[in-house]
Amino acid sequence: MNPFGQILEVLRSDRSGEDRANGVMILTRFLVSIVFMMFMVFAIFCQVRSLFPYNVYYFVASVALIGVLMVSYKFKHGYVITGAFMVIVFFMSYLIGPAFGWKASYHEYLLLGIMTCWYDSSKSVKQKTMISGIFSMLIAALAMFCKTETMIIEETSYEYRIFTIVNILVFCLCLSIAAYFLCSQTVNDERKLLLYNQKLKHIAGIDPLTNLMNRRAVGEKFEEISHIQDAVITVAIGDIDFFKKVNDTRGHDCGDYVLKTLAYEFEKFMSDKGYVARWGGEEFLFVFSDSNGDDAYAMLEMLREKVQGYKFEFFGHEFNITMTFGVEEYSNRFGTEEAIKKADEKLYLGKESGRNKVVY
Ligand code: GH3
Ligand code: MG
Ligand code: MG
Repeated sequence: MNPFGQILEVLRSDRSGEDRANGVMILTRFLVSIVFMMFMVFAIFCQVRSLFPYNVYYFVASVALIGVLMVSYKFKHGYVITGAFMVIVFFMSYLIGPAFGWKASYHEYLLLGIMTCWYDSSKSVKQKTMISGIFSMLIAALAMFCKTETMIIEETSYEYRIFTIVNILVFCLCLSIAAYFLCSQTVNDERKLLLYNQKLKHIAGIDPLTNLMNRRAVGEKFEEISHIQDAVITVAIGDIDFFKKVNDTRGHDCGDYVLKTLAYEFEKFMSDKGYVARWGGEEFLFVFSDSNGDDAYAMLEMLREKVQGYKFEFFGHEFNITMTFGVEEYSNRFGTEEAIKKADEKLYLGKESGRNKVVY
């Protein structure tokens, strides 16, 4: 990559966090860099023309802008960076305007502040109106300060033309960049936030212990496939028998280990049959997306036997567990919630009648 491309990459780099639109921050970095270059040129110009103390003002403002630029890589809030930039611009207008004239002053850059504040989606319309009002009053106050009597150079002088023309050209450049940027960045920001939303949605649907779908996600999934025409769906709830005893005699960590092991085995078992989720504490919900009640019953019988024969081993101790299942074939006459409720009732019957069985 060429040096110019590398500079662009650095200015564009996103440290804002994946949950934030970063457009304001990146735009401000571009504007700060351009104004920094202009101030440095003026600092040297004032030094050469012995315009003291304006050479110092420009130099100090340039250093402050570099500070703002550096902080922008550590800070998440774009509007604070823009605010710091605006403060520097305001003080420079206050110091330079009365000496070199209104047209050489930097009050226009406050307009860029108004523009970016309206783009910043983290602010309400009320806040944006307030910020715009404050900036407008600041510009009006600066206008009161800039009088031709206080100018230290003639309006016909060479210095006046340099200050004015460079300032106008640089401002127009900044304005064009801001306008281009705010139009194109909207798409980037939306895309970034869309990806973050998808990630959040995924996290919100996962049970952190077992990594299975949670109750909410499987509920949505079941509802979604129940709308597929002619779908033959069967739902089952499986509950570990006497799980409390596992926790009480072997410890809660051992209980967690059982839940994670079962989750892993169930996911493998259901991979070509439908979905499995952690329904509650030690209960799992199975959604067979293409099986009638009889077929699901047969498959769950196999699973029940597999669980019964599974050798759990925790810190050298081997043990077995059993599970009870309640099964219900879905019918669009009564809906998904009712199907789950009926499966739960059958699970209860299975518990009542001795456990370690599949009730259909
Ligand atoms: P039953 O055969 O009637 O289902 O008996 P049970 O002991 O399995 O049922 P009960 O509802 O009395 O106990 C369920 C236990 O599951 C109680 C609770 O401590 C445990 N449990 C729920 N969630 C977790 C978890 O995330 N980790 C562990 N280790 N235990 C859990
Ligand atoms: Mg139980
Ligand atoms: Mg239970």
